[in-house]
Amino acid sequence: MTQNTENKTDRRHFLKVSSIGTASLAAGGLLGPTTYAGGKPQAATSAALHPTETKLELLFLGTGAANWPKTYPPVNQKLTRGQVRGTSSMLINGHILIDCGYTVVDVMKRYDVNPAGITDILLTHTHADHLHEASILKIANSRDADLGPLKFWGDPEALKKVPDSDRIEKCPVEVEQGFNIDGLAITGLEANHQVAGSKETCMIYLLEGATRSVLYATDGAWLLTSTWNTLRKKQLDAIIWDATCGEGAGDPRIFSHNDLSMIRHMNASLLKGKILKPDAKIILTHIARKLHPAHAVLEKRLLPEGLIPAYDGMSVVLK
Ligand SMILES: [Zn+2]
Ligand SMILES: [Zn+2]
Repeated sequence: MTQNTENKTDRRHFLKVSSIGTASLAAGGLLGPTTYAGGKPQAATSAALHPTETKLELLFLGTGAANWPKTYPPVNQKLTRGQVRGTSSMLINGHILIDCGYTVVDVMKRYDVNPAGITDILLTHTHADHLHEASILKIANSRDADLGPLKFWGDPEALKKVPDSDRIEKCPVEVEQGFNIDGLAITGLEANHQVAGSKETCMIYLLEGATRSVLYATDGAWLLTSTWNTLRKKQLDAIIWDATCGEGAGDPRIFSHNDLSMIRHMNASLLKGKILKPDAKIILTHIARKLHPAHAVLEKRLLPEGLIPAYDGMSVVLK
């Protein structure tokens, strides 16, 4: 893959299979119709929520682990794909944000996302690269007051670290208890991850529309048994993995973050269990600065095996 210099008009790279060129993704950028084949039941949580949204539009507003620079380059500085990574964050359907670390507001500027349009933030956990008080307040305060407060979803203990403001409504999330945002069923599942000194349960999120399902799984290492048991009832169109560690062995971070061999193992099991659809997109985020090669090298190595390294500004549309 060549690295393209970004400009104002093509900053938002829509993920198209033709530009990736991998056999495993040859089914096309848009996936085929969803069926809950094989007699697999839907979990009561999402079934009761009746998701109605038929489109899942994902925009990556940060794809780095915490060891990237804490400030993001100004908008007028040209960047090549993956040259810089902001704190891990993803925007869903233009208005639901997962995590809000210290670079997210600046990344929004670069990719023409209006913070005033954010209605909800889902929090995975309270590590500083996922929760940044000043950025949250910027987003909350940019909203038109007539629209009501920004809804902020997360583990009840984690919500204690979210700033108190009449512009923010804290909405507790219990593990495995689904809730609905604008036609999307959302379920927090327990992550294999911890925040030192906090009693919170770190979460990953299952996002289910009427026809498409995505698991956003960072931060965290191996899926926990409880999370696996919930996923066994699902069929995913895409999974977004914590890919902090690279190919090398011996890094102690594998007990709280994945390396690529762990991701390969889990993909194989999820595929065999029909939890991942055969044409599901496997996307890597939370990429550590020093444990991976340059993005162009990463693409060249990983795309042929169907692993898509995300980059800031990457967009994926499932409908
Ligand atoms: Zn993190
Ligand atoms: Zn973390």
